Amino acid sequence: MANEFDLIHRYFSPLAGPEGLGLGDDAACLRVEPGFDLIVTKDMLVEGVHFFGDDPASSIAHKSLVASLSDLAAKGAMPKHYFLGLSLPSDVSDEWLAEFSDALAKLQDQSGIRLAGGDTTRSLSGVTVSITAMGTVPEGRMLRRSSAQVGDLVFVTGALGDAALGLKCLEEEIEPDECLIARYRYPEARTALGIELASFANACADISDGLLADLGHITAASGVGADVNLAEIPRSPTVRELLALAPELESCIYSGGDDYELVFTADQSKQDDIESLCASLGVPLAAIGCVTEKAGVRLVDQNGKLVHTGRSGFQHFET
Ligand code: ADP
Ligand code: MG
Repeated sequence: MANEFDLIHRYFSPLAGPEGLGLGDDAACLRVEPGFDLIVTKDMLVEGVHFFGDDPASSIAHKSLVASLSDLAAKGAMPKHYFLGLSLPSDVSDEWLAEFSDALAKLQDQSGIRLAGGDTTRSLSGVTVSITAMGTVPEGRMLRRSSAQVGDLVFVTGALGDAALGLKCLEEEIEPDECLIARYRYPEARTALGIELASFANACADISDGLLADLGHITAASGVGADVNLAEIPRSPTVRELLALAPELESCIYSGGDDYELVFTADQSKQDDIESLCASLGVPLAAIGCVTEKAGVRLVDQNGKLVHTGRSGFQHFET
């Protein structure tokens, strides 16, 4: 690998916006427009925990930035800047770095976010990527987890379970399927919808740890509960086919992480507006349940029977 300064200059300076000063100064200089709040989120992805060492560099870069873009989407924020912390083994190749930075450039073009700075160190144990991302919302308008109201409908975007099943393909637990693996390696953040949702939703979170876990964060923060209909949870055609053959994998759609879809609650009177908004953006939408007074998230089947769900999502420090 070239020295740290060459590396930054060659691969990352081309990604910097004007506020990053070409990554040639000690710090970036950001300006927030008057009347806007700056929304800030940080994520860290570690080899062996969040991705495999032999995953494509493009996937590691993509997932790292999408995790942050998805947090911004869940807050209704317009993506603006990000800072990139990189810890790399000393034998990292130019090809790896080129593929990594190209994937970031592609996502920057799609989302409008720009690199503003970072830090680069040598690692003695695999790759670690840490991104701090910033976006803006009109003052006081950030979507929160804590404002769901009893009687709200619960909505989710897209389809759930593909990423978790993609991971099972890579772990050789099920037959490999390119669609599922692609959804695990190259998820999409719901940026455009998130920005518009701020006008309609009461509470919102992104689904990184699993539907029940992330909806559980909303209900706990709001002091409410939710009933979710299992049959209404949206599945892609691939997942539908797979579950018809292997129904024991069904928990992937409510406990599986990494889909980066949005789960949100809104007053029933907003349903038509939300449906038109999603249709205009080409985002699939499903109403899957409602917010209740009784605490906790309950999953019920077509007959109204409670489904036993066990562990509801990914946790790092589980005993
Ligand atoms: P310092 O020693 O002051 O921390 P560095 O040499 O680490 O400075 O960084 C120099 C410049 O390069 C800074 O603007 C920093 O934000 C930027 N930078 C370093 N590493 C990265 C990276 N991985 N991605 C983006 N910018 C980076
Ligand atoms: Mg530094």
